[in-house]
Amino acid sequence: MTTMKLVEQNIQPDYLGVPFNTFVVKVVSTCNLNCSYCYMYNLQDQTYKQQPAVISQEVTKALTDKIISHYRRHQMSLIHITLHGGEPLLMGKERLQTWVRQVGERLHQEGIPHEFAIQSNGTLLDSEWIDLLAEAKVGIGISIDGPQQFHDMFRVDHKGNGSFNKVLANIRLLQEHPKGKEIFLGLLSVLNIDIPPTEFFEFWEFLNVRALDILLPDANHAYPPRQGRISYGDWMIQFFDLWLNQNREDRIVRFFNSILRLIFGYPFSVEYIGGKPVGVCVIETNGDIEPLDVLKSCKDGITKMGLNVLNNEFDDLYSFPLTKIYQQGARLLCDTCKNCEVLDVCGGGYLPHRYSHENDFNNPSVYCDDLYRLILHIRRRVGEFLPKDMQASLSGSAICSKL
Ligand code: SF4
Repeated sequence: MTTMKLVEQNIQPDYLGVPFNTFVVKVVSTCNLNCSYCYMYNLQDQTYKQQPAVISQEVTKALTDKIISHYRRHQMSLIHITLHGGEPLLMGKERLQTWVRQVGERLHQEGIPHEFAIQSNGTLLDSEWIDLLAEAKVGIGISIDGPQQFHDMFRVDHKGNGSFNKVLANIRLLQEHPKGKEIFLGLLSVLNIDIPPTEFFEFWEFLNVRALDILLPDANHAYPPRQGRISYGDWMIQFFDLWLNQNREDRIVRFFNSILRLIFGYPFSVEYIGGKPVGVCVIETNGDIEPLDVLKSCKDGITKMGLNVLNNEFDDLYSFPLTKIYQQGARLLCDTCKNCEVLDVCGGGYLPHRYSHENDFNNPSVYCDDLYRLILHIRRRVGEFLPKDMQASLSGSAICSKL
């Protein structure tokens, strides 16, 4: 059975979804890099070709109006706006500063608590950018995939040249700039199984950055992940042990922290693990409203709903099966997931990783075995710190002996 049928059978047509409190805004649709694994340009979706290069004044105004009306209807505590691309710094300093000021001032006038962040490839940063972002109170996360030989395998420019040297120099610039600490949110790395976990850990130490997030490569059953000498699960298990054994409070791996929170039953949601409802949506440069941009790794045009901030409210997104699957994923899982002993922590993993041409999202994650082994391992390692009689109280079934 396809997930579309599952949606029809399990979710009411008048479903009122989780309010959107995180708006990922594609302020530009182009990038100065051409990373070979990028879901925007180099996987299944080609819709970027129809997008305006930069978000317009008209779309920005409509977007702000719709965020305000959405907030008024749903009364959330905080609105997060992430400037995304492509590479958002390609917007240029003056334009980006004006954009943030315009949107921020309107939200401020309406009494809407909000925060801005940017996810950047880190190549275009300079001191002036850091001053500007600090002044505008915009946090910045930088993507870097490990030591040079590994980073430059995939994160290349349009001529095929690696970007590592620029990114490293700009991370150092952020660390040394007097205002850098105010805005530097951390690192984002796509997991590369060719990097020995110890080498990646030492690299993180060398960078000396507090927060790191590790993303599994965008892959699914139709387009499986690259394989190597070690599985993704074993890689993450080894990296987790290095991190846990180091026991430094000032070293955060968001992926592991998320799993730990889920194991301990925190009320918590993150889009790529746990299957809890998430209030994220994406706005393209032309104003199109979409549920999740990474779904572009599954099928050309899959995120296109025919909705646009010029004509629609964000609530209009709730009627689409893909939004329901994204928001209520844990209610729409395949039988394998429903019967899985780590379901309460895994939740079927990240929605794009469940896709196949035959069943669309009615599958376990393509990283099922990796997630299963990692979660059991983390549960067991955490259990070592608890008295025996408390171990079984960890989220889900008792600590497993399968590993
Ligand atoms: S580990 Fe596999 S079967 Fe279990 S919930 Fe995750 S994806 Fe589903």
